[in-house]
Amino acid sequence: MPNFIRIAARTIAYSWASPNTILGITIGLLLGGRFQCVDGVIEIHGRGVANVLGRLLVPAMAMTLGHVVLGRDPISLNVTRNHERVHVRQYERWGIAFVPAYLACWLVLSLRGRDGYRDNPFEIEAYAVDSLTTTK
Ligand SMILES: [Zn+2]
Repeated sequence: MPNFIRIAARTIAYSWASPNTILGITIGLLLGGRFQCVDGVIEIHGRGVANVLGRLLVPAMAMTLGHVVLGRDPISLNVTRNHERVHVRQYERWGIAFVPAYLACWLVLSLRGRDGYRDNPFEIEAYAVDSLTTTK
């Protein structure tokens, strides 16, 4: 792929996911997290982030919002990196529709008596790239 097309594609992907990225940065700032950039993704961790992730409906080691990954600590970010990068790619495809689509899948699955998290196609895709079973 020619370089200018790759740059244009990446610019569009970052722009398309930017509302969720801004939300992730805002949450990271409000929680007093430590920021680092890894392969074009902002990773944020800290005690406040860990507190919130531990209180989610499904307690998580990490969670992705656009091009931001919130993690409990640096180890959690390392362990979940491949999984969370799949979610970053999903945000790049779905943009602001990602969260509603994810939650809609969760709701429909739950109403059908299935696991809204484990059976969620977005999670199935993410788990397909790693062997983890305990991250979000
Ligand atoms: Zn996940």
